[in-house]
Amino acid sequence: MTNHNTIKVAVAGPRGKMGREALTMIATTDQLQCVATIDRKNEGKLIKELEGLSDLDAPIYTDVDQCFSEQDVDVLVDFTHPDVGKYHMEKALSYGVRPVIGTSGFSEEDVQHLRTMAEDKGVGAIIAPNFSIGAVLLMKFSQMAARHFPDVEIIELHHDQKRDAPSGTAIKTGEMILQTRENKSQGHSEEKELIKGARGAEYNGFRIHSVRLPGLIAHQEVLFGGEGELLTLRHDSMNRESFMQGVRMAVNTVMDLKTLVYGLENVLE
Ligand code: NAP
Repeated sequence: MTNHNTIKVAVAGPRGKMGREALTMIATTDQLQCVATIDRKNEGKLIKELEGLSDLDAPIYTDVDQCFSEQDVDVLVDFTHPDVGKYHMEKALSYGVRPVIGTSGFSEEDVQHLRTMAEDKGVGAIIAPNFSIGAVLLMKFSQMAARHFPDVEIIELHHDQKRDAPSGTAIKTGEMILQTRENKSQGHSEEKELIKGARGAEYNGFRIHSVRLPGLIAHQEVLFGGEGELLTLRHDSMNRESFMQGVRMAVNTVMDLKTLVYGLENVLE
């Protein structure tokens, strides 16, 4: 990773849970400077004028074009909503601004379209469904272990307000496991569920289980079973700060890219 001079960052979604955290991370990182924010209200105000946000002089824009034409921005960090994130990303690429997108909900077609756009413009971009370095390492270690232990089950555990199941991280872990795991159907061939769903969701021959409880944040276990041995890999996110090391790394890395990278695991050394 190259060490860049000050990187000028715009944050979209500054009042959101992740956007706030990103502002704090940028304010406390010497090499980064927040030069602007993109919100859907508070046009013309400064971030420091909003209660509970970082003490930053960065102006708030509701018009993306105006933001990118008035401010010299190197990187856009986006934590908004799926449709908005896509729109911001296209705008950023058209202005030569490198997007680092944490917003979820991008389809394979979206990613392909945005990759073509990034390459045509020669502008780097990163979309990362999970910025937690620990979670990304868990996926990578799981992929490595599945080569030796094809019998595997994933258990993901989240707070009870999460709407989708299984989590994007569990699906991504499953996809990465599939790349190295020998194709096999697990368990007894005559296995019968006495209560529907007892064995979790079937995913290409193995199972993914989703637990939802208040008190949990974001956790995942990947269990591998072998001859007389068990390997358990586990990751726990305790708060939103846990994503910021990955965001910081992505902001740095995107400065050296000329294409779109999907997934932090592809830039984690
Ligand atoms: P959140 O608290 O709801 O924040 C979203 C923010 O975006 C809100 O402040 C919302 O404003 C704002 N927004 C909506 N439309 C906008 C627009 N047109 N322009 C600018 N801002 C707009 O959600 P969150 O928990 O921060 O999550 C944000 C996204 O990041 C979600 O897609 C989530 O799944 C994803 N996420 C990713 C990671 C990762 O590691 N990649 C981790 C956690 C979450 P209003 O409040 O006015 O609607």
